[in-house]
Amino acid sequence: MDALPQQEVSGVPFASENDGVCHACGHDGHIAMLLGAAKILKSHEEELEGTVKFMFQPAEELLQGSQSMIDAGILENPKVDVAMGMHMNFGPCGNYDMSVGTIATRVGQMMQSADEFEIVIKGKASHGSQPENGVNALSVAANIITSIQQIKTLDVPAGESCVVLLAKISGGKAANIIPDEVIIGGSMRTYSGELREKLKEHISDIVTSTARIWGAEAEVNYIFGTGPVENDPELAEEMLGYVAEVAEKIVDTGLIKGSEDFANIGKHVPTFFANVCAGGVAQGYAHMMHDPALRFDEEGLKYGAAVEATCAANWLSNHTENK
Ligand SMILES: [Zn+2]
Ligand SMILES: [Zn+2]
Repeated sequence: MDALPQQEVSGVPFASENDGVCHACGHDGHIAMLLGAAKILKSHEEELEGTVKFMFQPAEELLQGSQSMIDAGILENPKVDVAMGMHMNFGPCGNYDMSVGTIATRVGQMMQSADEFEIVIKGKASHGSQPENGVNALSVAANIITSIQQIKTLDVPAGESCVVLLAKISGGKAANIIPDEVIIGGSMRTYSGELREKLKEHISDIVTSTARIWGAEAEVNYIFGTGPVENDPELAEEMLGYVAEVAEKIVDTGLIKGSEDFANIGKHVPTFFANVCAGGVAQGYAHMMHDPALRFDEEGLKYGAAVEATCAANWLSNHTENK
């Protein structure tokens, strides 16, 4: 599930048999871990004090799979109270001990949101000798770009991190025609859902009010997006207690530059997300995720399965209504 368009060069006997497609992000490992957890929990079904759903999230690479599962009803029938998610970590991808048995996570903010947007500015074409009869969409775009680039300085609280990137622009036909349309493409990343909403709103305000001042029309289309991974503090503290029962070590990931659309689940129920370490550079694993030469220590998988199973069983027994 969720293989990448790369030719695997890992050299392992169980390398991908499909040319140009391989599991270079560990998603085959995720499936194996969750099936392992299902097997463990199934063998203790009588003792479980509730229902456990196993979420095989597709299309994480496109940051779209969790939303399609939400739309398909993953959180209903029976209704989900809390959720946890895991991703594998290996190679040179964190400044912490990545040895097998280590679970890397955080309480609170953990991973970035990811949003892409397109700004469409519509002006009015005119002969280049008569700017007063047209609306120059390119000049309006220049004003919008300047304002958006000030967001990081003026909008973002000290100590909060974010990226607001304008990376694409097109418009204009000739040096003597007032351009009537400009399209700008950009992206935005934050660690806080609150900041994400605030910046989205401010970008829209900047675009529409700047356009209005100069007689143009403009709109922002959010093309796709996922929220930041924020581990619910209460749930994370509880889960960390269960993780400690089976993991060799728990480390703090720090803020991770990257996104995970499991975050969409966190908009509906409290969530806990963690990384399962399966060998870093110090353990001889030199390739990280999205490297077609990657290998990881498969011993790490059993810790992932154990953490998933123990968190599910313990959470249920701690939250049974009759208690
Ligand atoms: Zn990936
Ligand atoms: Zn991945």
